[in-house]
Amino acid sequence: EAKALGQSVLVFESSMVDSRQYRKRMFDRLSDVLREGGLSLHYQPQIDLRTGELVGAEVLCRWHDAEMGWVPPGQFIRLAEERGLIIELGDWVLRESCRQLHEWDASGTSLPGKLCINISTIQLESRGFAERVLTILAGRDPSGVVFELTETAMMRAPEISIRQMERIRASGFSWAIDDFGTGYSSLAFLTRVHAQFLKIDKSFVSRVPNSRNDETVIRTIVAMAESLGMNVIAEGVETQEQLAFLKSIDCCYAQGYHLGHPLDPVSFKQKWLA
Ligand code: C2E
Ligand code: CA
Ligand code: CA
Ligand code: CA
Repeated sequence: EAKALGQSVLVFESSMVDSRQYRKRMFDRLSDVLREGGLSLHYQPQIDLRTGELVGAEVLCRWHDAEMGWVPPGQFIRLAEERGLIIELGDWVLRESCRQLHEWDASGTSLPGKLCINISTIQLESRGFAERVLTILAGRDPSGVVFELTETAMMRAPEISIRQMERIRASGFSWAIDDFGTGYSSLAFLTRVHAQFLKIDKSFVSRVPNSRNDETVIRTIVAMAESLGMNVIAEGVETQEQLAFLKSIDCCYAQGYHLGHPLDPVSFKQKWLA
């Protein structure tokens, strides 16, 4: 029966993603894999569009499972959030990315600029989160670390999240609003969260140059961010035209397949830090 289940998952993977059985199996595997050290981290370069230089990287969690193959983070992160495993997973991401930064420092190939780490609101709202962050990252220059929270998550964030964010910010770390443009934040809210970076969601960038409206939205976000004293990072830059457009409107930073794919630490070091 196990074998039959294994085969059916391989064949019907996408349609079974939401089935209870598949999710149960995925969750059981994820709990084991997290404890056995079976997750890994990839790093995607972020580029300064004025100079073409590397200004940082976003760390993205990866799970290659012996039975299920590559499981997309969109699936396993959501599952971990629903089942309360995200706190442990998120702590692991913090520890492992911090260890990686130390390793690059020790080999004389430090990451220039900032490392961006995705944070789930469930993590942010968990007891003692700010203390854990400060403990795990103790000894690191906080100006080299940015935490990303999605716009939708921030809008749902109750006062407690905003207080946690503020405590972490007071220690010198900064925040980025991720997937900006897909939620409904008000300008008043934007100024309240004191995020230093605003990441334009890739859905807008993907419609350049075919959509005048999306170009206008991007141009407006860049102008608004500038007047609020925030820096913009455009996500999902896949073509030369998109890059040229972003440069033409003075967008500062970008990431995307056209500039560099997420890479495992060894490949990232070879390509970007050597
Ligand atoms: P995100 O934070 O919006 O991350 C950007 C996603 O866009 C990543 O997908 C990245 O691989 C992908 N991407 C980068 N450049 C391009 C491009 O040019 N075109 C397109 N189409 N995609 C591009 P990925 O790695 O599959 O991650 C999906 C989501 O999972 C992330 O979205 C983030 O919300 C979540 N995630 C990943 N790692 C972590 C983590 O360590 N903790 C938490 N809480 N969430 C994570
Ligand atoms: Ca992100
Ligand atoms: Ca994003
Ligand atoms: Ca996203």
